[in-house]
Parts: sequence; C-alpha cells; structure tokens
Amino acid sequence: MGNHLIRGARRAVWLHYLISLAGLLIWINVDAQVGSDVALTRSDLIPIDPKAYLLGQFRPDTTSDFARLPKDLANGRSVYLRTEVAKALERMIRDAREEGVHLEVVSATRSFAQQRAIWNAKFTGERLSGGRNLAKEYPDSLERCLAILKYSSAPGTSRHHWGTDIDFNSTSPAYWRTGEGLLALRWLERHANDYGFFMAYTPDRDRGYRYEPWHWSYQTIARSLLRNHYHQLISPEDINGFHGADIFRRFEWRDWYVDGVSEALR
Ligand SMILES: [Zn+2]
Repeated sequence: MGNHLIRGARRAVWLHYLISLAGLLIWINVDAQVGSDVALTRSDLIPIDPKAYLLGQFRPDTTSDFARLPKDLANGRSVYLRTEVAKALERMIRDAREEGVHLEVVSATRSFAQQRAIWNAKFTGERLSGGRNLAKEYPDSLERCLAILKYSSAPGTSRHHWGTDIDFNSTSPAYWRTGEGLLALRWLERHANDYGFFMAYTPDRDRGYRYEPWHWSYQTIARSLLRNHYHQLISPEDINGFHGADIFRRFEWRDWYVDGVSEALR
C-alpha cells in the first residue's frame, strides 16, 4: 500500500516535470515564431500618429525614422524611405550595380496627396493608364474604379505610404520583358530576399492588383504594419476624399487589395 502511494507520488512529480517542460517548449516555440514582430511595438514601429502614418498623411522629409536615399540611386531625384529600409536598399542596389545589373528607384514613399493625384488623374482621364484613357473607355464609375485598380491603389490603401515599398526601373510591364528588365528581374528574384525585400504582387496570387515585377517590399517592417496595425487602426471612413471613394468603399477592398499581397508579406 505504502509503496503504491510512493510510486503514485513519484509519478505525479514526473508528470508535473513533463507538463512544465512541454509548457516551456511551447512558450519558446511561440516566442520564436513571432520573434520579429514582438520586437516591433507600436512606438518602435510608428514614429508619428499611427493613423496619419498608415494613411500617408505626413511628410517623410521631416519625420524621424525616415531618410533620403542617395540621389544616384533614384536617378537624381529626392526619395525617402524608412531609415532601415533605405540602408538595406542602398546595399542591395550597389551590389547589383557592381555585378552590372541596372537597378534604380522610380518611386518610394508616396503621401496620401500624391496617391490621390495619381488616382484622380486616372479617374478623370488626365493621366493615361497603360496608354489608355480610362474615363473615355469606362463611362461607368464602378467599372472605371476596377480598371484603375489593376495597377493603382486608392489613396489611404497604398503600401507606398509606409516607407517600406519601392518601385524599380519602370512600372511598364513591357520593360520587364526586355533584356535589361529580365536581367534586373532575375537578379532581384535570386538576391532581394537576402537583403530583406520581397515582391509584393507576385503572379501566383488569386486576388488584388495585377503582377508587378517592379514593386518590392521590406518584409519585416511592412508585414508587421499589415498584420498588427493597419486593420486594427484603419476603418472604411478613413478611406475618403478622392473621386469614386464611395464606390471604392463598397468593394471588398481590405481583403482584395490590402491583403492581396504575396504569401511572404501577409
Ligand atoms: Zn509600387
């Protein structure tokens, strides 16, 4: 009887150890999985009012945590990115150029106002989209919005607001089928991940914008912004103030466009 009790007690002690060990392992595992996101608290990640930041309602040239990219990397123009992103990007472009591959930034951080200017000009037909006047081609506003959304984001929903995303070389699909374009694309596909950059609009997605070989995103910061902040902070009422906004808000825009990025960035 006594032996039985002692054996039972020993078993209980062992069981207790095993459960603690399992708990510890689960804890370590969970911590490892979310490691990169855990380090990025809202105050680390977002230097200003978080809503204004995510909607692009700020000036990157006067915001801490933003830096200007050396002008020779952007064809002489002043473009801004998150400081960490700018550093990684400079290393990547210089390494590519050393290997004879042409890479330059044609678009980086864009404000809400800049995105609105692009959107509105496409909506009114002042700016052509792939050589076409969408206002003439689509008199119906809903169809016109969908046509713009093949390649352009609505203001407030663009990843370019965040300072984590860039367009390389050309936003014309035809360029990326030329010799120079293909060389750049092959290089990016082989090496960009090593510098932290991932293609946002890959050809394998089932929703969202068309394939954009030119648009790349700095994974750690951008993924955390999307997962942990954008949806929590931005509501449909924030997406406003441009032509066709009332129509756009009726689309499944979060699911389809904001979340319609490559697996690596979700
Ligand atoms: Zn882009």
